[in-house]
Amino acid sequence: MGFFTKSSEQLQSGLSATKRAWTQRLKKAVLGRSSVDADLLEELEEVLLISDVGVATTQKIMDQLQKRVSKEKYLNVSELDKLLYDEMVALLSATASSQNVNTDNLQVVLVVGVNGAGKTTSVGKLAHRYKSEGKRVMLAAADTFRAGAVAQLRLWSERVDVPLVELNEGSDPASVAYTAVERAKKEQVDVLLIDTAGRLHNNANLMQELAKIQRVVQKVIPNAPHEVLLVLDGGTGQNAFMQAKQFAEATAVSGLILTKLDGTAKGGVVIGISDELEVPIRYIGVGEGVEDLLTFDAKEYLDSLFGDA
Ligand code: GDP
Ligand code: MG
Repeated sequence: MGFFTKSSEQLQSGLSATKRAWTQRLKKAVLGRSSVDADLLEELEEVLLISDVGVATTQKIMDQLQKRVSKEKYLNVSELDKLLYDEMVALLSATASSQNVNTDNLQVVLVVGVNGAGKTTSVGKLAHRYKSEGKRVMLAAADTFRAGAVAQLRLWSERVDVPLVELNEGSDPASVAYTAVERAKKEQVDVLLIDTAGRLHNNANLMQELAKIQRVVQKVIPNAPHEVLLVLDGGTGQNAFMQAKQFAEATAVSGLILTKLDGTAKGGVVIGISDELEVPIRYIGVGEGVEDLLTFDAKEYLDSLFGDA
């Protein structure tokens, strides 16, 4: 690789802690061994689990590797990286391509996830991204539960310079969403990003609230929301898996945003989470800045993880 694009540099630096941990663990597992044998596979399984790849996905990878090992007489440990890489690319690509077909002019994107996952920040970053593509963007502050939440989104709307729809504090989030979709339609907006609340202590209510938002949005545009993006804090490892499952059960999640991959060694979640949920990862967050949201590309991600750079 002769040069790096800006996003691949961001990816490299964002993933550095994950990469370091991953490389060290792999090195330690193969230390003093020459062939890929049953003992090494056992060590490897542990490496995958510790690296937050997730139980189900680790099992899938191990099954595949086992097949390769029993088929081929001798596999040198130097081939292990390539074996793993190939399995992971296959897993990630299986869910990476399903893009929603949207025939409406307005694309409504509902952003969900627990408190602190990075929803509002991701909405701001997405607004910036769409705007730079020349799209007309609008934000809706449907997290009306905390006073600070609306103010935080307002800051982003000013920073990115896109309009914000907000109602009084404590308003019904569904009313905000409804008002916003009507206005977005009237003003010929291309992308409406709806920020939502994520208090986890009352899970049933939260899920009902999200369902209600979806229902009222559909009164204006039957196919909306065109995307439901679930935001997960990548630094929480196994917790992110559990949250993802809860949300996926309650709402039709169409894509994932994994945030805070910078400064965590738990970037292995990326490998298992979309496989387990059968939902593609759309974006990854690698910092707090407006540009720190990257389109997820499985090969690029794994190249950074396994590469020499
Ligand atoms: P919300 O409660 O889901 O809306 O979460 P926020 O958007 O308010 O984010 C919570 C905190 O995480 C804030 O301090 C953000 O700046 C921070 N944050 C969000 N995304 C990222 C990311 O990709 N990297 C880092 N380092 N911080 C992030
Ligand atoms: Mg928020």
